[in-house]
Amino acid sequence: MVRIPIKNDELIKMSKFKVQAVNDEILDALKLENRYKWLNMNLQAILNKKQMEFLKEVEDFALKVDKENNFTHSMDEDVYQYMPIFGKKGYISRGHKFDEIDMDYGDKWGLTYDMLRCLAVDFFDPQFNMSIGATTLCINPIAEHHDNIDVRLKALKELVTGQAIGCILITEPERGSDATHMLTTCVENDDGSYSVSGTKIFNTNAPKSKYAVGYATTIQNDWKGMCQFLIDTSWEGWNCERANIPWVPKLWIGKEELKDLRVPKEYVLGGPGKGRDNLFEGLLTERLGIAYEDVAQCWGAIAHAAIYASMRKQFKNPVIKFQGVAFTLTDYWAKTANLFQAILKFAENYDEKYIKYKGNIPNAIRQSLAISASQLKYNASILTERCCYEMANLMGGAGVCDNTLIHDLLGVSRIQEIVGGTRQIQQYIMTSGLMHLFKVLL
Ligand SMILES: Cc1cc2nc3c(=O)[nH]c(=O)nc-3n(C[C@H](O)[C@H](O)[C@H](O)COP(=O)(O)OP(=O)(O)OC[C@H]3O[C@@H](n4cnc5c(N)ncnc54)[C@H](O)[C@@H]3O)c2cc1C
Repeated sequence: MVRIPIKNDELIKMSKFKVQAVNDEILDALKLENRYKWLNMNLQAILNKKQMEFLKEVEDFALKVDKENNFTHSMDEDVYQYMPIFGKKGYISRGHKFDEIDMDYGDKWGLTYDMLRCLAVDFFDPQFNMSIGATTLCINPIAEHHDNIDVRLKALKELVTGQAIGCILITEPERGSDATHMLTTCVENDDGSYSVSGTKIFNTNAPKSKYAVGYATTIQNDWKGMCQFLIDTSWEGWNCERANIPWVPKLWIGKEELKDLRVPKEYVLGGPGKGRDNLFEGLLTERLGIAYEDVAQCWGAIAHAAIYASMRKQFKNPVIKFQGVAFTLTDYWAKTANLFQAILKFAENYDEKYIKYKGNIPNAIRQSLAISASQLKYNASILTERCCYEMANLMGGAGVCDNTLIHDLLGVSRIQEIVGGTRQIQQYIMTSGLMHLFKVLL
């Protein structure tokens, strides 16, 4: 389908579409600058001064990027082109300090700052933000296990600065939730390298990625053989095709056939058994990352609906005057604000402990934090799916057409319960937490 720009130059920057359904005045009011202003008014009493300054810094940058590049965020725009632009400014991943690769984040790093970065970027483009989330899943294990080895540091620098895109290969066609009983095998060679063979699927960014962090096992169906590898996708044996997920049409998600893919020794991040420990270590921050991505989607959806409902008139009144609209809005507004504060508190607490224990948070504390991260991911993924749908619903036809980013939010919010461990798997983890508490009690 050819998308022809609408008449008003200013509005073209917001969205390019074939048929304009939303009037000029409302479209203009929904522009990124106003959505940011609306968000900031909500957060001014919640964030401290330094946090607020950082949020505004990323927002100002996103506004400048849109303006300078004339990005449209239309259905056919390539979101991966934004990666090096945001990477150059250090807005891909703030989870670590990255001193080893001279990222110069000062004290603005950790989960708290990554959460704020994520919030600003999600307003800019939700599907791009999800692609950053997947690159971060490739970054985190390298950051934890680079052991100052050159090739790992090089990959880390390229990923963090957006020069390269990354992905994570856990899921297999026959092993999804049951990720520790893998079928993809690896065999150690005499020189310490490994040969990897098997099939992976649903790996976000994979067809666009230069690097992957992948898992395989020396013994099928046994976690004791699980290894973790850094993979350069230009190596022979990497065969990747795009798997289509219609709810996120701008993301490139892969299915990979790994055929005798030789991983040199210096790319082995974790040998047999260690791969499982490294996988579990990454799940805590992955789930928290999904939780703050989800709450960012909720804020984005409410920003759209609150502005729209205050301007859209039916029966001679803005529709927000009707309780059926206002009470739905306020319900999700309250839920989103509450959950945002809960996730922020978790992030601040985690960062404090990460610094206190110099990156090695004791196991007992980690396990307790892992349960909290599951609780937050569980709630946030349910909330975003309902919230984005309900906010689109309050916008009527405008909420489901392609004129604004509410359409992207609708799609991306629907997969949040599945990625990073399904809703039922979070419940499974939380149940084990409850059983542990009882065991300790009596
Ligand atoms: C858009 C998208 C992006 C993704 N990105 C990545 C990525 O970057 N990297 C990657 O490795 N993977 C990725 N995934 C895969 C994702 O992590 C898996 O889809 C997910 O873990 C579920 O696995 P599955 O699809 O095999 O479902 P299954 O595990 O087959 O589950 C089917 C159903 O059974 C339920 N179930 C399974 N086991 C239990 C249990 N013990 N108790 C209760 N219920 C259970 C599940 O909750 C689900 O409802 C992505 C998936 C999607 C859709």
